[in-house]
Amino acid sequence: MKRYGSLRWILLAAGVVAILGLTGMNVYSLYALHENTLESSRENKKLQIAEFTDKIRYRFFEKFMGLGSVDIDRLQDNYRKTGQFTSEVNNLLKKAAKDSIYKDIFFIPSGSDACQQHTPIHKYTSNQKFELTSNYPEVVCDGMGIARTQIKSLLADYQYNNKVIFDSHRSITIVLIDPSDREVLGYLTMPFNQDFLRNSYLPKILEQKFGPDEHPGLNVWLRDWTNNKIIASSSPNAKYESEQIQFVENFPDFFDYWTVEVAFTDESTLAASNASLIQNLIVLGAAMLLLLGALVFMFISAQKERALAERQSEFLANVTHELKTPLSVMQAAGENLADGRVQDQQRLKSYGNHIFSEAVRLRKMIDKLLDVAKSNAEESLIEPQPTDVGDVVQSYLERHQKFFREKGFHLDLTINDNLPKVNIDRNSLETILSNLIDNAIKYSADEKYLGIKVTAQNNQVKLCIEDHGIGIDKKSLSDIFTKFFRVEDSLTAKTKGHGLGLSIVKNLVELNSGSIDVESKPGEGSTFIITFPILSESEQKGSPNSVSMQPESKSRNKELEEHVS
Ligand code: ADP
Repeated sequence: MKRYGSLRWILLAAGVVAILGLTGMNVYSLYALHENTLESSRENKKLQIAEFTDKIRYRFFEKFMGLGSVDIDRLQDNYRKTGQFTSEVNNLLKKAAKDSIYKDIFFIPSGSDACQQHTPIHKYTSNQKFELTSNYPEVVCDGMGIARTQIKSLLADYQYNNKVIFDSHRSITIVLIDPSDREVLGYLTMPFNQDFLRNSYLPKILEQKFGPDEHPGLNVWLRDWTNNKIIASSSPNAKYESEQIQFVENFPDFFDYWTVEVAFTDESTLAASNASLIQNLIVLGAAMLLLLGALVFMFISAQKERALAERQSEFLANVTHELKTPLSVMQAAGENLADGRVQDQQRLKSYGNHIFSEAVRLRKMIDKLLDVAKSNAEESLIEPQPTDVGDVVQSYLERHQKFFREKGFHLDLTINDNLPKVNIDRNSLETILSNLIDNAIKYSADEKYLGIKVTAQNNQVKLCIEDHGIGIDKKSLSDIFTKFFRVEDSLTAKTKGHGLGLSIVKNLVELNSGSIDVESKPGEGSTFIITFPILSESEQKGSPNSVSMQPESKSRNKELEEHVS
């Protein structure tokens, strides 16, 4: 038994550890999932930013897309003869000239000393022709200068097409090359329209792509590293704070003086992910609590069952002993009488009394066992009929008042007049009364008080049995109706009993559609309250009154009374 007890503890501990381990693992994987969701949402945003920078870069030279495949020999020829480009190239220039990104389009032929001497260069004009002008900005020469330096090192290996693009932060320069003999024809330089770029194009496109309506929870700024200034923002109201920047993306190749800086604010993904994490944790917590509760419940009920089994076997041993003892006494006394050895009147009487009282004890024991059987037999042994509880109580007490008096009990009886009838089995009520009154007497010490009250209220008849005895502690109150349960205190230990009376009472009350409750305070006493639902008015009228005592219970109670006295 002991070995199984410790095994049970080990299993319980293993169960709890398993549950805690499982919970831990689940919380961890939920957290990892939450982090992954965030990470993948951020990765996704980073991809969008990279796509965006590519798109802007493309926007700067998209107007010149066809330039790489023009017939360079014809272009060269045409330019030498007329000072103009072929119509094929002119068409591209026409479109580019209309693009607000570029301020003007200039052409500096290779070998020209235009920028050193400040001699005139070609400018594409509104009548869609190149015209010579000496009025050109510094930025044109800067752009051309950078392009010329860089193309020198590239040209030796260059063999692909007739166009290479360079950039000098404020302009874009396209170098026209003849790939066959690797010679530079000239430089097409377009200074940017800085006003348009900074005040219109960049802020607008940033807001369109990453503005609060498109991407709540994300702020994007564009920094120009040439002067280290923020030149555009996805949300005009967002305040730039460098410590909030979580991610910086460079613009590809020749726009490397621009960077996109990104701050992830309280994004919806984070909120959604947090909400789902919390939801999952709550469900997990509840499931774990349920599981833990079930485990503890199973453990407790196993303990209870074990205790019940122990009490049952104890009960069997006691019953065997209690059945055997009176039988042995009766056997011995009977033998003596049968032998005719006892002649003395006094002794004869004493032997007779012995046999009688032991027989009563035996009968009591058998009655108790029968009551248990009856209360377990469910409805089959119950014969409910309209009954006046007051009458049954009165009749029961009349038959037992001598017994109370001899025990020194003061009986305080209140029975309301005109009590309505209830549909119960009279024998059950007698058994209930006998068990509760028996207990009130058994578990009273100095103050011998027995209060019995029968009243009617709220469509119920209420029977209260009160004593001023030892009372029952709060912890045991919920167990006293359990079969074989006995409170562990000194008076109970001294009192004979098997913990069956109250379980019989509860079973019988419930079989008769009633309910039982108990109020008790240790040292002050206990009150058992039983209620039965009253019969409807028509049922009250049509029923016979059944107050008469049944012979079986009469004789049983008489014997009990005589035995105790
Ligand atoms: P038994 O009296 O045979 O032990 P019961 O089922 O009648 O069994 O009662 C169960 C336990 O409840 C008793 O052992 C006792 O400890 C407690 N008990 C019952 N009635 C009273 C009472 N009126 N006052 C104090 N304790 C009581």
